[in-house]
Amino acid sequence: MPSRKFADGEVVMGRWPGSVLYYEVQVTSYDDVAHLYTVKYKDGTELALKESDIRSQSSFKHRKSQSSSSSPSRRSSSRSRSRSRSPGRPAKGRRRSASQSREHKEDKKKPSQEPSIALPKPSENNTKRYNGEPESTEKNATSCIVLEQKVKPDLEIKRVLDQYSLRSRKDDKKKEEIYSEKKTFVAVKPIEKVSTKTKEMEFGGRIGTFMLMLVLPATVFYLLLMCKQDDPSLLNLPPLPALESLWDWRVFGVILLWFFLQAAFYLLPIGKVVEGLPLASGRRLQYRINGFYAFILTAAAIGALLYFGFELHYLYDELVQFAVAAAAFALALSVYLYVRSLRAPEEELAPGGNSGYFIYDFFTGHELNPRIGSFDLKYFCELRPGLIGWVVINLAMLLAEMKIHNLSVPSLSMILVNSFQLLYVVDALWNEEAVLTTMDITHDGFGFMLAFGDLVWVPFVYSLQAFYLVGHPTTISWPVAAAITVLNCIGYYIFRSANSQKNNFRRNPADPKLANLKFIPTATGKGLLVTGWWGFVRHPNYLGDIIMALAWSLPCGFNHILPYFYVIYFICLLVHREARDEHHCKQKYGLAWERYCQRVPYRIFPYIY
Ligand code: NDP
Repeated sequence: MPSRKFADGEVVMGRWPGSVLYYEVQVTSYDDVAHLYTVKYKDGTELALKESDIRSQSSFKHRKSQSSSSSPSRRSSSRSRSRSRSPGRPAKGRRRSASQSREHKEDKKKPSQEPSIALPKPSENNTKRYNGEPESTEKNATSCIVLEQKVKPDLEIKRVLDQYSLRSRKDDKKKEEIYSEKKTFVAVKPIEKVSTKTKEMEFGGRIGTFMLMLVLPATVFYLLLMCKQDDPSLLNLPPLPALESLWDWRVFGVILLWFFLQAAFYLLPIGKVVEGLPLASGRRLQYRINGFYAFILTAAAIGALLYFGFELHYLYDELVQFAVAAAAFALALSVYLYVRSLRAPEEELAPGGNSGYFIYDFFTGHELNPRIGSFDLKYFCELRPGLIGWVVINLAMLLAEMKIHNLSVPSLSMILVNSFQLLYVVDALWNEEAVLTTMDITHDGFGFMLAFGDLVWVPFVYSLQAFYLVGHPTTISWPVAAAITVLNCIGYYIFRSANSQKNNFRRNPADPKLANLKFIPTATGKGLLVTGWWGFVRHPNYLGDIIMALAWSLPCGFNHILPYFYVIYFICLLVHREARDEHHCKQKYGLAWERYCQRVPYRIFPYIY
């Protein structure tokens, strides 16, 4: 029987479950059967830990910090100093991006300044990996991380007490000022290079993703063909069009032109450049925020085309061909993305798209942030060609309705659908920066799922209501229109304020505008908001989005379920997405996430789910 290593009463360093942080704890007892130590943290929390989660204090080397400040700027500079030895260092023989090489050279130039420790500021991705994910060793990979901060005893007790209780962010700021002068960083612990292999497959694994690759395009064509029918009842299946009628090179040319026009707008040196969230390597990518300008330029171009007599409603007649061409383009893009991802360094792969199975990785996206120079393919596709394309299709449907039904003004239903969705798109582009903290950018790779979703699903399925209204005119009264508008405004208000609250909090937790919000601190250094919208339900932004989705379908009346496809699909999507996010957050934040869930029990719908 293995003997116990630590005695009762001994003061040791205990790992905080679900994190990489070690805190000073006292061993209170040992369970011979379960081989678990009961340890007591300074805040009084008692936990049972495995021996492997306990270290002797002597294994933590004390060192006086060169930093006397805990300001964010200092923290980030420390982080960048450590890059050359971070787990994100490319493996031998792997391609290294230009920026990385530059950083590496810069790091090499200043070895004397390089302390043997780096401050802990694990990002979402690397934290997840440190949290018990399988580790693979790489020769000479000697990344270091500080595992605990030590402060003067009286202050430390107060800090620990604070850490596990909710506090106002105003108080927090004051305390930060007090502690900043007293902090001493201790305990250097080399850690091994971590593998980014995906262990848990989502979307039904290989079979599920294979099926989705067939079902998603089939659904788009089914919906579009249904919408063209006089009677779009679910069971009234549309006749299959001849294959050759689906492909038109001219239409494919328009799709290419559209994509490259948007790419040209993206490359314009207008709009600010911001940094994304830290990657697993600690590096931050830069992104140009000019989506709104791209929208304005597109609107000007479309306006000019209309002025010169271009018949945009041509899109209505050929929408299926456009969808086929866009799907072909998305498929070709996905193949390109997968092929190039095979040469990407390990640390640039998506944590969720590196299973080693072709189908799965092809679908979920193998590489996290594929870039051609500074051109970020995923970020570009997220909001521009598809989202702006959606608005253009809606406009084309509005013009088609007027032309086909000989109207001098569009129907009230069409105006509502167009206005609501225009607001949604303009909002997304106006707040483009917020996309940088979403799962799509921070977690998901760029593969078939996002390429097809961004370039085909969004423009051709989300415009279904407008498409439906052209062939199935629906009259609504002004009071009904007013009620639907109020519903959309409520949804929008919840959606926007929830997203802004989280985005601002993630970008600048010290933002004075957020001073009255409370949060639970987590071992990763990030907090979890427990008041404001994020204290109402765990995904308030999804709630707002779903309310808006309903408001977009209601103007189509109740004759058919087809225009309600969007809201039904969207609820399924967001419930599934919420479950995925819960899973990731549980891995990232461990106990803190459980506390958050206790405090905020409803996921999306208050008192229901
Ligand atoms: P969210 O923007 O909701 O981001 C989820 C992340 O927020 C979590 O992983 C966590 O990341 C952070 N978080 C969770 N709880 C808290 C908390 N209490 N305090 C602070 N941070 C918290 O995810 P999505 O990317 O899914 O959604 C973004 C927006 O896009 C939503 O409005 C959604 O409705 C919309 N959307 C629209 C779609 C469409 O097709 N129209 C499709 C998908 C999404 P961390 O802690 O690491 O920061």
